[in-house]
Amino acid sequence: MSQTSSDILQVRVEALASLCSSLAAALSEAGFTGSQLNEIFSNHVRGECVQCGIQISGDDMGRIAMAGEAVELPNPKLGRLRQGYCARNGCDSFYYRVHLGDYVNLDWAKIREKADSLRGAAQADAAKAPGAETSAVRKRILMRVGAGVVVVAILLIWRHWIYYGYVPLLQRPHKYTIDPASAGHGPAR
Ligand SMILES: [Zn+2]
Repeated sequence: MSQTSSDILQVRVEALASLCSSLAAALSEAGFTGSQLNEIFSNHVRGECVQCGIQISGDDMGRIAMAGEAVELPNPKLGRLRQGYCARNGCDSFYYRVHLGDYVNLDWAKIREKADSLRGAAQADAAKAPGAETSAVRKRILMRVGAGVVVVAILLIWRHWIYYGYVPLLQRPHKYTIDPASAGHGPAR
């Protein structure tokens, strides 16, 4: 079996999990069952570091995709992958080659196209993403976007607090302004 360019793709390490989720969503939308998905990811999908050549299974990618941000991964190799680093401690590569192997009735070119559109739809407009299968992918992307917004909000509040000495919405501004009634040179009554 020879692999064509449509069966190999190069992605950044931090994109492995979302790639895996969107491929899984596209496969299930195309009618593949859960056990077929397991078999495909266990035996027909693998990743390989472009720099050091270390290999990871499709299952490994699935585990990173399934584990939320807060979940402690038991395997330090998976922990590094989730953080966007190569699985090999000390390798500074940011890219992995993902090999998509042959499987009965599976047209990877079509699945990839579908996966790309699912990801695009989820990113562009949550309401337009069709089907329940995509909701996990959509939710994950939205959660990431949401987390980013929260971080930005915290930074803005922090900066506001540093500059102005109070937290907007939670505290009333300190009264630095002079009350005209006590200033003595207000308008005569
Ligand atoms: Zn590496």
